[in-house]
Amino acid sequence: MRIFERMRDMEHEQLVFCYDEVSGLRAIVAIHDTTLGPALGGTRMWNYDSEEDAIEDALRLSRGMTYKSSAMGLNLGGGKAVIIGDSRKDKTEELWRAYGRFIQSLGGRYITAEDVGTTPDDMAFVSAETDYVAGLLHKSGDPSPITAYGTYRGIKASLEYLTGSTDLAGRTIAVQGIGSVGYVLCEYLHEEGAHLLVSDLYEDVLNRAVEEFGAEIVDPDRIHACECDVFSPCALGAVINDVTLPELGCRIVAGAANNQLAEDSLAQGLRDRGILYAPDFVINGGGVINVAHEFHPGGYNRELALRQVDRIGDYLKQIFTTSDQEDIPTRVAADRMAEARIERIAKVHRIRV
Ligand code: NAD
Repeated sequence: MRIFERMRDMEHEQLVFCYDEVSGLRAIVAIHDTTLGPALGGTRMWNYDSEEDAIEDALRLSRGMTYKSSAMGLNLGGGKAVIIGDSRKDKTEELWRAYGRFIQSLGGRYITAEDVGTTPDDMAFVSAETDYVAGLLHKSGDPSPITAYGTYRGIKASLEYLTGSTDLAGRTIAVQGIGSVGYVLCEYLHEEGAHLLVSDLYEDVLNRAVEEFGAEIVDPDRIHACECDVFSPCALGAVINDVTLPELGCRIVAGAANNQLAEDSLAQGLRDRGILYAPDFVINGGGVINVAHEFHPGGYNRELALRQVDRIGDYLKQIFTTSDQEDIPTRVAADRMAEARIERIAKVHRIRV
């Protein structure tokens, strides 16, 4: 991998490698763009097949955070960290504290929080060593439930745009990944009478979804192909790719997972197939809004955070409308919206204070 070329192509500012022999920590922090403010984004713990995969994930996820924070109207830049390891086996207090010391060494250029494979308990250990961690239990807490709420609002807005109705009763929704976000999303959808198809890698998680929501289990390799109103990716990225695109059985793709498109060009493929795509970094912005409210001068206020998350449906409708008016993919419309705000604020920042 030609790291600097990749950073140039994706417009990154900084990539930091953190290693600690004692705890076995192997972490990569990617800071994409700090025009709007310090880079904020969660820490993902995952058993990557290779170090290159981990670097690529950090680069792609951090860029997504720049666009997400801009689209949500936040004064934050984009960053993300990945830790190479098995989140069910490799977590120790010393690993999190070593990681926290590296975060502190960045002096606030990067603020971390939870992501796939990490929890508020992990962040509590990190906070023993750094001020630059959010999503703590005594503050805004785990962002996952609010991400799920924003995703639920986004699914309803997408349905409304396509069908004129937000009604979920009798709709079939395929949820891929019943983790921290996917599970709470299922709760919202089930409460309003949606029929749920679910897939996950863990049987215990699936059994719970069957018991609590009457969900139907689907093979993880086939969930994208199920006939349904909405396919909701809530696991990992790249789920829309050259193989899955022609097989999609839905009218709408609207889920919480980051980087759902393996390649940006697939956004046009979705449009060509007449599938409405709710851009991931817009529909899943609830979590970052919630975390950002920890830095509110008046302190964290859940009601204010939720009020801001309620706007996600309006952002999506604006993006869908632009996409149809200009005949461009929804993802391109969303990118332009986020980039335009960064450009406007960069011009304001030329004024020295
Ligand atoms: P999580 O680790 O709690 O859950 C992910 C779930 O997906 C796990 O249960 C895992 O077993 C399952 N999974 C993994 N690969 C799968 C596959 N191929 N098929 C089916 N299931 C699979 O993570 P989470 O916090 O729920 O996050 C889910 C997604 O949402 C991630 O892409 C994350 O980046 C994104 N996201 C999360 C938040 C948040 O607040 N947690 C915010 C924004 C975006």
